[in-house]
Amino acid sequence: MEDCIFCKIISGAFGTEFVYEDETAVVFKDINPKADIHLLVVPKVHVADLNECSEELIGKLMAVVKKVTVKEGIKSYRTVINTGKDAGQEVFHLHIHILSGGIK
Ligand code: AMP
Ligand code: ZN
Repeated sequence: MEDCIFCKIISGAFGTEFVYEDETAVVFKDINPKADIHLLVVPKVHVADLNECSEELIGKLMAVVKKVTVKEGIKSYRTVINTGKDAGQEVFHLHIHILSGGIK
């Protein structure tokens, strides 16, 4: 989607390094980390938020959480999905935060 920062990242516009990538999602480091490890799991398809997300896609994204944490050796972590402005969502392209260590 035009004007979506995460769509641009997915397209490679900024040369962002992906910690993990498959047919469903990319995973990259949050630019403003709120923990020692702060990753974002982002679907390749533009979906605004959890309310707009199919059960199939959220299932696949949670599977990506498991794959990337295993790959990175992250054993203890918090997952967060902010849905809507009032809940603190700033980027309206669905993403799952993975936070581990020194969570602020
Ligand atoms: P949320 O408040 O749930 O919408 O989270 C958006 C997150 O995206 C914040 O933690 C930001 O630090 C992060 N973010 C915004 N722009 C970028 C970017 N260009 N690269 C990586 N992370 C970003
Ligand atoms: Zn997008």
